[in-house]
Amino acid sequence: MTTIEQLSRLDIKYLKGVGPKRAELLAKELNIATYYDLLYYFPFRYIDRSTIHRIAEIDGDMPYMQLKGRFINFITQGEGAKRRLKALFTDGTGTVEVVWFNRVKSIQESYHTGVEYILFGKPTSYNLTYSFVHPEVDVYKPEMTQSGGLVGVYTMTEKLHNRSFSQRALQRIFATLVESAQVQQIAETLPQSVIAEHGLISLRDALVNIHKPKDIVTLQAAQRRLKFEELYFLQLNILKYIKGRNAQVPGFIFPTVGKYFNGFYNNYLQFPLTGAQKRVIREIRRDTAGGKMMNRLLQGDVGSGKTIVAFLSMLLAVDNGYQACIMAPTEILATQHFESISEMARGVGVKVALLTGSTRKKARDEIHAGLLDGTINILIGTHALIEDTVQFANLGMAMIDEQHRFGVAQRAKLWKKNSTPPHVLVMTATPIPRTLAMTVYGDLDVSVIDELPPGRKRVTTVMRYEKDRENMYHFVGQELRKGRQCYIVYPLIEENEKLDLKALEEGFEIVKETFPHYTTVMVHGKMKPAEKEHQMELFVSHKAHILVATTVIEVGVNVPNASVMVIENAERFGLSQLHQLRGRVGRGADQSYCILMTKYQLSKETRHRLEVMTKTNDGFIVAEEDMKLRGPGDIEGTQQSGIAFNLKIANLAADGIVLQEARDAAQRLLERDFELQSPDGTIIARQLRFLFARNINWSLIS
Ligand code: ADP
Ligand code: MG
Repeated sequence: MTTIEQLSRLDIKYLKGVGPKRAELLAKELNIATYYDLLYYFPFRYIDRSTIHRIAEIDGDMPYMQLKGRFINFITQGEGAKRRLKALFTDGTGTVEVVWFNRVKSIQESYHTGVEYILFGKPTSYNLTYSFVHPEVDVYKPEMTQSGGLVGVYTMTEKLHNRSFSQRALQRIFATLVESAQVQQIAETLPQSVIAEHGLISLRDALVNIHKPKDIVTLQAAQRRLKFEELYFLQLNILKYIKGRNAQVPGFIFPTVGKYFNGFYNNYLQFPLTGAQKRVIREIRRDTAGGKMMNRLLQGDVGSGKTIVAFLSMLLAVDNGYQACIMAPTEILATQHFESISEMARGVGVKVALLTGSTRKKARDEIHAGLLDGTINILIGTHALIEDTVQFANLGMAMIDEQHRFGVAQRAKLWKKNSTPPHVLVMTATPIPRTLAMTVYGDLDVSVIDELPPGRKRVTTVMRYEKDRENMYHFVGQELRKGRQCYIVYPLIEENEKLDLKALEEGFEIVKETFPHYTTVMVHGKMKPAEKEHQMELFVSHKAHILVATTVIEVGVNVPNASVMVIENAERFGLSQLHQLRGRVGRGADQSYCILMTKYQLSKETRHRLEVMTKTNDGFIVAEEDMKLRGPGDIEGTQQSGIAFNLKIANLAADGIVLQEARDAAQRLLERDFELQSPDGTIIARQLRFLFARNINWSLIS
């Protein structure tokens, strides 16, 4: 028997067909150093070698495919490093272009016109024709396409390609690997009871078939086994950690709804709460009365009214003799919270303080003292708030706004601010799909505000092309004449910073020329903070009418009079980001508009993404779609908080059912054997230790 652990110490250079040179290349390019690494480098797709596509059928973004046909001609172009070989290839239904940038001479010598070939590659569309760059080419033999076998396609790098590491070479290596004695005798990582209960195939069969599937049914069984296993251990890790903590951690009990809560509710509340707000407050009251520490995630779209819920919950803490705090990701947001919350708190005589990185030493000392002697009831701040020097007399409730900017590690720091950890409420306006929440925030209960305050109008969202630009400006002009304000947002990414800034500045000039009678200001992340704030202030106070900006305005700006959001190069933004930007308008009583400006040639996927925006205003639907399109690793927030998932095979967007099954199974096991000491538990504990040692992301979760 060979264990996974042993395979993770076995150098790949000893595998037949690899050797030291290729091993070095694989390590450098794909991070594959051991048998284990290679074995768990799964194909990202499979192609059916028995299927041959017709050129006439190729369209849009098609995956790898096979064509059967002949070369019509070969032409060499360019000199030296720019030399390339181009060929036309036809199968009678159409023609594609084939291009080689390397090994031009040897390729030209080995392929001939008039011979029938099988060509394998991925088509890209270029100038109305499709082209294949460095495809695999074989002389056609009938038996090649009769086997009907599925073949794995692996992610490659440019360098591997250039060093003549073809898909085929990689596939041969995998074939050798799965036939090797080590893999043939690989030890199980799951207890037999789990395998039987969930109808899984063995680890050996799964690994062999994931690389060299016998047929589609066996491939699916292999995928299911490996997905289940991956999610099972992930969930075990999360649940073991939460249960371990919950078992030890009692929470403060808030039995009283007293003079602060009732005083505010009866005398100062400006509007009736929505049903959703009331429901969430009830959930929070139940949590804080139960004797266990609350750990709750509050999701609610921009403008759904999370602040008032947070404030009422904090009053509940104050009513019971505790302090409360709220942590925001930016100084602007913290300041906004401070302003609105102190105003609400004034009537009932609750003392609120603001602590940020720019709080002066003297004020800071006063705040430290006020927190320690209990005269400050509510503290609002940025990261500054979790520093060790900030000590409370009796912190009972901690809130985090815009969770996705904070990691779990920071949340954990808040738990340590009192001898018993305070109740924690995490608020986010970036809705997170349920499956993702279950994993990223596996330890949180979830509340949702799924209802906007009455009277809000849906933001009308449209897609417009460059040719509509004049019309778009005309429309903006109409809104400006009605006294409204307008945002125009440009993308800015680091890799492309210079060009992006140039586009922004040019856009700014054009807008100024187009609207000479209005004041236009510009804000971007590269400006000095004071200058940025000054420009921003002009817009907030309505001295400026148009704000040209990068996404710096995404968080924290509140200008109810703004009714138009124009997003330039909208195709370059992710869905969640577009949704956040759109949330900047529609905050007042007027009908608001979001205009997505795009170039003409959009891929199918991009068009679909933008259409989601035009069809719905619901942040949850947007988030689900976003995850489907991009996969969970790219979802806003998971990366910022450092929990970029490194799942090798499971996909949180698509594998909700397996995830639920794995989570339930993990839960049952821990109920029986929390310490993992039974014979089954021991097998699992060993694998958990192995995975934990290898996987950096796991340590972030716990
Ligand atoms: P967010 O969930 O984005 O943090 P806020 O708490 O800032 O939203 O609320 C947005 C606006 O809606 C605020 O001006 C707030 O006073 C108002 N608001 C909140 N709840 C209600 C309600 N039930 N009825 C009317 N207006 C409300
Ligand atoms: Mg808010």
